[in-house]
Amino acid sequence: MNIKQDLITINQYSRPSTKLKPVKGVVVHWVANTKSTAQANRNYFEGLKAGKRDVKGNLIYASAHYIVGLEGEVIQVVPDNEMCYHVGAASYKTDKLGTYPNDCTIGIECCHVDDNGTMSAATLESLKELIKALCTKYQLDPVRDVYLHYDVTGKACHKYYVNNPKAWTDFKASLQVDPVHAANVNKLVKAGIISTPEAWYGLQTVNIEHVKSLIAKVAAKVS
Ligand SMILES: [Zn+2]
Repeated sequence: MNIKQDLITINQYSRPSTKLKPVKGVVVHWVANTKSTAQANRNYFEGLKAGKRDVKGNLIYASAHYIVGLEGEVIQVVPDNEMCYHVGAASYKTDKLGTYPNDCTIGIECCHVDDNGTMSAATLESLKELIKALCTKYQLDPVRDVYLHYDVTGKACHKYYVNNPKAWTDFKASLQVDPVHAANVNKLVKAGIISTPEAWYGLQTVNIEHVKSLIAKVAAKVS
């Protein structure tokens, strides 16, 4: 997974430049705009700096840290250590994220191929890798600390997972890293045998070429 940084301009509507508190969770969204690209959604957030209004005439405050695109591309639009407006509401379904969840969560927007929110295999794979990397970085538990927007506010977002709760449970289970396995992977990183630990934590994305190169490196160490 490659993350392209294409930060939006600091502005009061989509990048207020407020420091994020210690990260307590990751919140998953859908862009609710079928087949729109990650770049188009990034540009939408950028455009909000002009002070856009919704159909009711209210100013739009919106952004997220990352957008996962239709081809699995990932664009970071706001740095991790700044607050985004992605999960604000008048009231919240959980108190685990404090009184204002925007101030301690990282938001990820997902592009989708139909109006049900179905994601391409490439989008799904990058989403998994991104969440795993964030959970590792901020010591979050993928089952306990990864939320749908719906889990926090009740909004029907990410629509696909709101309508397919079993798929969401399975998705989170697939993010789990066996701690013994993770420790072994970390050992191989230290020994210089593995250079991309995130590719090996979950094992779902490991392909035969990775395995061959791992065997070659181990063989070089033992010979
Ligand atoms: Zn959302």
